[in-house]
Amino acid sequence: MTAFRIECRCPQCGAPAALEETDRVVACPFCRVRSVLTARDGFRYALPARRPAGRELFYVPYWRFKGFMLFARPEETEHTFIDMTRLGVGLGTLPHTLGVRAQAMKLKFATPETEGRFILPMGSFDAALEEFQSRLSRSRPAEALAAAHLGEAMGLVFAPVYAEEKLTDGVLDAAMGKVPEGWEAVAAGAGRLEAGVGFLPALCPACGWDLAGERDAQVLVCGNCSSAWAPAGGKLERVACECLKTAGAEDYYLPFWLTTCDIAGIDLATYADLVRVANLPKVLQPGFESRRFLFWTPAFKLRAGAFLRLSENLTLSQPQEVLAAGLPPGRHHPANLAAAESAGSLRVVLAGIMKPRKEMAELLPRLALRITGQRLAYLPFQGDRHDFVQPHTRVAINRNLLALSRSL
Ligand SMILES: [Zn+2]
Ligand SMILES: [Zn+2]
Repeated sequence: MTAFRIECRCPQCGAPAALEETDRVVACPFCRVRSVLTARDGFRYALPARRPAGRELFYVPYWRFKGFMLFARPEETEHTFIDMTRLGVGLGTLPHTLGVRAQAMKLKFATPETEGRFILPMGSFDAALEEFQSRLSRSRPAEALAAAHLGEAMGLVFAPVYAEEKLTDGVLDAAMGKVPEGWEAVAAGAGRLEAGVGFLPALCPACGWDLAGERDAQVLVCGNCSSAWAPAGGKLERVACECLKTAGAEDYYLPFWLTTCDIAGIDLATYADLVRVANLPKVLQPGFESRRFLFWTPAFKLRAGAFLRLSENLTLSQPQEVLAAGLPPGRHHPANLAAAESAGSLRVVLAGIMKPRKEMAELLPRLALRITGQRLAYLPFQGDRHDFVQPHTRVAINRNLLALSRSL
């Protein structure tokens, strides 16, 4: 399994720092300033070029994805772990992947200051993933009704090349073969990058207090004014946060994304609708019609099977009635799965809760989901020997799986 390492410098004191590709909070060991990483167009890295002096240096884009792909099929939902790089531009004679090179050396963030001309990928990251998903899907007998990904690491890695008489690999300074057909047209569009990675001080925008969050946190919390913040578009934005507070000092709080949607093509706006759609063995009661339906999905990294089980069980329970605004009073697990990742999984979650499955298979491809809001909610869990159990809903998660969840 690969894990890329990135070299950067502390924005405050300039000291060198080494990061994992999953890191979002950097703590400088020298000046102790903590920063939150932001990237407007996703994270972009560059492999170091060897002997670039006096030569025209180009950077070729490779998409990077490490994580799970999920496929809801008519019979069941499948998932596959993927750890890949893939050429992001149509120059067929270039290597299709970076191979093992990117693991062996340290990457740098690619920024507007990086020397060289960058060839930007054709299409978006989502389009590249979709293409990849459909290729994986084609080898199966039944077509996927919905697909999603849970990424541990994703972004773009640029590999240096020199296009002289021949094409030269800029990492090794070794010949790669002929300059590919179509190179000139692609190279003509290459230039400096417009945006790079940003470092925001890890301070509460509301009160100036130090924000708490572990190195892979996607949401940081302020213990002083009880607020939560996530990097978005180059700044920290407030995240609405709720909690089921209990008196148990031993309780361990896990974060979840609560997502409200308009769903066209099916009646699924209330708890009463859910009872019908999921064929729950419950007698409809008057209060059910006024309880608004929403999706519950983990806001932390988890293997695909456990992620789906927790999402389905909590979405079927709809425990939002017991929440109150605020942060958890006790120990809590870092929210290290971004809201957007969670939002991408909703169709696959829906495939698991609609019953009977045959009807789901007919309906799901025709449904349109429009997300209208997302907020964070913490639920308390109590540990026994094997599991963490949520006392209110009886939903459980295996202790080992949770311990493993810091990386997929
Ligand atoms: Zn520093
Ligand atoms: Zn604050």
